[in-house]
Amino acid sequence: MFQSLVILLIFLTVMMVVSVIIASKRVVKNRKSVVHLIWMAVFTTVCYTVFILIPPRNPGLASFAAGVYFLSTDWLVVYLMLFAADYTEVKPLSRVPRFIVGLLAGVDSISFVVNTFTHHMFTVEVASADKLGIEYWDVQLKSPHIVHRVFVYAIVLYSLVILLYKLIKVPAIYKNKYSSILCQTLSVVGLNVLCSAVDAKFDYSVILYASLAISICYLALYASPKKLLERINSTIVEDSVIGLFAYDNSGRCVGANQAVRELFAGEGDIYEIAEKYRARWEEEFKDNSSNLVGDERTIVVNGEKQYIYVSYQRFLDKKGRNLGCCFQIENRTVVVKKFKEEQFRATHDMLTGLLNRNTFEEEVRRILSEAKEPYYMICSNIQDFKLVNELFGSKVGDKLLIAQAKMISRSASDHSVSARIYADKFSTLLPKRCFVETDFIENMKQIIDMGLTGSFKLHFYIGVYDIVDVNEPVWTMYDKAIMAIDSIRGNYEQSISYYKEELLQHIMEEKEVLNEFDQAIEEKQFHMFLQPQIANNGNVVGAEALVRWIHPQKGMVSPGIFIPTLEKAGLIHKLDLYMWESAAKKLEEWKKEGKEKYSLSVNISTKDFVYIDVCDAFRTLAQKYDFDVKNLKLEITESALAENVRELMTALDGLHELGYDIEIDDFGSGYSSLGMLKDINADILKIDMIFLRETKNVQRSTTILKNIISMSKELGMPVITEGVETKEQVDFLMDVGCDMFQGFYFAKPMSLENFEQAYG
Ligand code: C2E
Ligand code: CA
Ligand code: CA
Repeated sequence: MFQSLVILLIFLTVMMVVSVIIASKRVVKNRKSVVHLIWMAVFTTVCYTVFILIPPRNPGLASFAAGVYFLSTDWLVVYLMLFAADYTEVKPLSRVPRFIVGLLAGVDSISFVVNTFTHHMFTVEVASADKLGIEYWDVQLKSPHIVHRVFVYAIVLYSLVILLYKLIKVPAIYKNKYSSILCQTLSVVGLNVLCSAVDAKFDYSVILYASLAISICYLALYASPKKLLERINSTIVEDSVIGLFAYDNSGRCVGANQAVRELFAGEGDIYEIAEKYRARWEEEFKDNSSNLVGDERTIVVNGEKQYIYVSYQRFLDKKGRNLGCCFQIENRTVVVKKFKEEQFRATHDMLTGLLNRNTFEEEVRRILSEAKEPYYMICSNIQDFKLVNELFGSKVGDKLLIAQAKMISRSASDHSVSARIYADKFSTLLPKRCFVETDFIENMKQIIDMGLTGSFKLHFYIGVYDIVDVNEPVWTMYDKAIMAIDSIRGNYEQSISYYKEELLQHIMEEKEVLNEFDQAIEEKQFHMFLQPQIANNGNVVGAEALVRWIHPQKGMVSPGIFIPTLEKAGLIHKLDLYMWESAAKKLEEWKKEGKEKYSLSVNISTKDFVYIDVCDAFRTLAQKYDFDVKNLKLEITESALAENVRELMTALDGLHELGYDIEIDDFGSGYSSLGMLKDINADILKIDMIFLRETKNVQRSTTILKNIISMSKELGMPVITEGVETKEQVDFLMDVGCDMFQGFYFAKPMSLENFEQAYG
């Protein structure tokens, strides 16, 4: 019996030492208080074991050992209390009570040590248990020992109270932890009380100290409630954003979490849905030998496409038998849609929904690399789109662009691609068989009819390039279609133009003109040539000033080449200002020389009114040079009058006020202009012979000419006819009462020197 007790105590001590060494290495909460408590339990157990092992002939030593054992119980309960406070997180003692407890334990400890000599707390004597045939130390307690008991029980009671308090407060799954420690502590106390009540030979409660310490070590540092884990696991699964269908080994759905229920909400019974998708997906994943496989899928839920990632997981036992499986469904719809939206944004024009410039290039390359039929590159552009935005606002501008996008992509097929390249420039690559010119024109008309009110005339241009070499750079093809447009820009009669090789030549020439223009003005390469104007009595009365570009390399360049280019580029006013000034200067010179008999007619381009204040320019000339304004006649083409009558009339009034005479140039060559004469305050009518030359019905033309002249007579306007080449023409014009003539019949345009020599 005695030996078994000693062996048991040694065994428990070893167990405690092992557990405290292992526990010291764990990084967990409460470790410190647990480790302290166990070391204290080790100390107490060792003390007790040593005490009972002391041989009977050493009562002094036994008394000392018993004293140390008693004092160790003081500290054991103190550490039990500290552990309980730490473990329950109930902070029971502030510094002062803590100090008092420590002080009491200290005093008690000293008292036990002193007891070796004073024997005031207890005495030890050898006793023998006859039946067992052993001798043991019998401890005779004295009354002061009661103080130690009270102290120890009070501290244990306090520890039990806070453990109980915690036990009541914590959720059910944690109650085990506390109740187990509580019960064990109670049993230790119970046994201790029992041992002293029956005056047992040994304090058997020491055995329970050790087991309590080991159990505390396990509960506090290792044990976590299984239910908690289950609860956490199931909560994670239930609340997961990844949907989950779980199936048993027969394929029956045994669970569906919140995420799948949300995904399939409104689609019917979730278990039926689970069954439907298992039947579909299991088959697809079956061939894969891995236990966990996944793939992208799209499904339709409530009529809407959903992008999901499905993983399939098989559960097998150790022998490889099927336990069940699950599908994890990650709903990626939002992310995929966002990605697609961003992709769309990066590749498309957001206003019209057509492709953007870069993507167009890639697509054209792709289509042409697989092309089995001939293609057109088609471009469209609105005349003066900037003006539309300014006049009608950008909302109308946007509407127009959207309509234009629809127009250009209307003939689209699988093998075509359309894009908004820049601003109002659109382009489409279309198989030739899909291009019907009349359809395009019809579509354009519909947009025009969509209606922009006021005097603004909406006009579209379409440029078509017939792709000969599919390997040509895409932007070269596009440029060629734009060149086709540029060749008809400003021409309201034409909407569609096809690229021809000559266009390139023409455009190169235009570029050259524009590149050289500024330098040519500076270097005075432009010269004023004069073509005489003859009155019906045969006298030269004046001349028309016509510009000639005497190019250092090309020689004389006729205005037909560079004037339209300068007009298109908005530069003609620079040249005209130069010509007008040359004419004014010459008139001043003639005046000074007393040769005031000739007038000079200068040309005013329609575009001059757009870029400069024409009135102001002529006012300045009249101030700067000394000449008779009646001698500087201003030629304005009839087509200019047709375009913007009101603005022009104001300008003409201004010029009249300055005293200048206005000639209507090219009368009869273009628009029906008779009606206009009543509104326009012009002084001289200049009839173009061209319309006489080009007609098949000469009789009709001569009748018209005759009437124009007689009408202008009635209006009091002198008439000059230009382009007169033959004597017959002169005779006829004389007959019908024409006042003046200009034409090769009399003289070609000539240099100033030649003019002055001939007529000076
Ligand atoms: P325009 O104002 O109608 O000028 C008359 C054109 O008819 C001149 O051509 C002249 O050489 C040509 N011409 C004169 N008599 C005859 C004839 O009997 N038969 C034929 N076939 N032609 C005749 P040019 O000098 O080549 O000028 C062409 C056009 O260039 C002018 O037509 C005018 O619109 C423009 N232009 C010329 N100089 C200037 C200028 O300084 N400023 C502006 N804005 N335009 C100018
Ligand atoms: Ca003229
Ligand atoms: Ca003319």
